[in-house]
Amino acid sequence: MQNLSLQNENLADSFRLHCIKCGHVQDPEISSYCEHVSFVFLPDYDFEYISPESEELIAKLQESVDRDDSTDMESMLVNLPSTKSSFIIEIGSAGFSCGPSSFRALYGFDLAI
Ligand SMILES: [Zn+2]
Repeated sequence: MQNLSLQNENLADSFRLHCIKCGHVQDPEISSYCEHVSFVFLPDYDFEYISPESEELIAKLQESVDRDDSTDMESMLVNLPSTKSSFIIEIGSAGFSCGPSSFRALYGFDLAI
């Protein structure tokens, strides 16, 4: 899948990702995501959100990851077949003076919905 990467200092603190289709602000703190978000995956933790439409797909990916030690969920997601309307936006930040030293989140979008 197309993978756009956004990197910024302290991004996790202040950055809010807007949906480029409907403009909805995705807010992990209250788990508020618009219908165009397929999943939110935190590589160091787990899925933060999976849309009802994506649950089956993610479950299949999870089975593959469980079966094959040489792969992980992040690479499975990034290597999903691209369509014109689906893509991943990666949000990353590093260099907190306190707290976690880095933060990454993968937002899967499907604008065809
Ligand atoms: Zn949207």
